[in-house]
Amino acid sequence: MKVKVPLIDVNAQNLPLASRFGEKFQGILNSGNFVLGAEVESLEEEVASLCGARFGIGLSSGTDALLVALMVAGVGPGDEVICPAFTFFATAGSVERLGATPVFADVLADSFNIDPKSLEAKITPRTAAIIPVHLFGQSADMQELRQIASEHHLTIIEDVAQAIGARFLDHGCGSMGDLGAFSFYPTKNLGGLGDGGMLTTDDEGLAQRVRGIRNHGMAEDYRHTMVGGNFRLDALQAGMLRIKLGQLEDYISARRANAARYSKELGGIDGLGLPLEGEGCFHTWNQFTLRIADQRRDALRAAFGVAGIGNEVYYPFTLDQQPCFRDLPEHALDGISVAHELAAECVSIPVFPEMTVAQQDAVIGVITEFFQN
Ligand SMILES: *Cc1c(COP(=O)(O)O)cnc(C)c1O
Repeated sequence: MKVKVPLIDVNAQNLPLASRFGEKFQGILNSGNFVLGAEVESLEEEVASLCGARFGIGLSSGTDALLVALMVAGVGPGDEVICPAFTFFATAGSVERLGATPVFADVLADSFNIDPKSLEAKITPRTAAIIPVHLFGQSADMQELRQIASEHHLTIIEDVAQAIGARFLDHGCGSMGDLGAFSFYPTKNLGGLGDGGMLTTDDEGLAQRVRGIRNHGMAEDYRHTMVGGNFRLDALQAGMLRIKLGQLEDYISARRANAARYSKELGGIDGLGLPLEGEGCFHTWNQFTLRIADQRRDALRAAFGVAGIGNEVYYPFTLDQQPCFRDLPEHALDGISVAHELAAECVSIPVFPEMTVAQQDAVIGVITEFFQN
């Protein structure tokens, strides 16, 4: 019998919580408070405490969290911001939207995360900030990056969209830079029932500015000291996220168990690169991403397709290859090679917490059979 395996199954995670969602919905409906308010404040405290930061500020999405972080860091025209070439588009899009210049650094083959040496080589007198991304659920090398940033007086904005709950040398992701940007998009490890995001910081001044910009830069007396926008989080979304936050530790444990089983069952296959948990890292496995050598990636994907196994290429193009960034200065685009190899060889497979043993067996079966031929 063929066992179908989706890449992720949000219903398997959300539907068991339906009655708790329903109660929460009724409570918020009765309260009549739908934007910011007590639910959002509680979620802010809970997420900040989870990652070890002093403040959390709920926002409309992960993309907006990145945008607002750059705004409060004062990034604008003339500034350069360095981020990895291998990440989701929003990381760099936010920089460009503020009229600043995204500059792309190469990544490391063993972690998929930004290469500190490549980053350092891209620093110019115009560099204002860096955005390390904790890709696929694993922290970038924050020790190296903090050292480089402090030497060059750069703001660090951590992109924690894929890595809530991840740790590096026992520090929570989102607590190691100046600001941490989180996403609660439904497929993230803490996935909401819609869009949502958050910034974390230890700096009270930055936290206050984020709260201001979230609401049009408005002070209490309707005076606007700065121009912000509507980047607010809804009470309903925060309420649902708080229910799921109570399960996050279990979700992450299940992802880690699935990843460990893949590593055990798929180890030692020629031509198959398995993702690794780096020294000092606590990986949260938002994605389990294989590297397929010898240009056989698309053939493996075809085999997955026949077997009904969900998979996706994160990411088929690097940021320096995106048409919209074609006209960036040369130093923003050059020196990228590992990221190009990854884009050609990567494929992410199901690792979601609710996958059954039979489902994982099906994935393992397709891969082992593929490499026997
Ligand atoms: C999902 C994601 C974002 C954007 O978050 P949204 O909530 O979808 O706006 C930013 N960066 C990375 C690395 C992401 O994976």
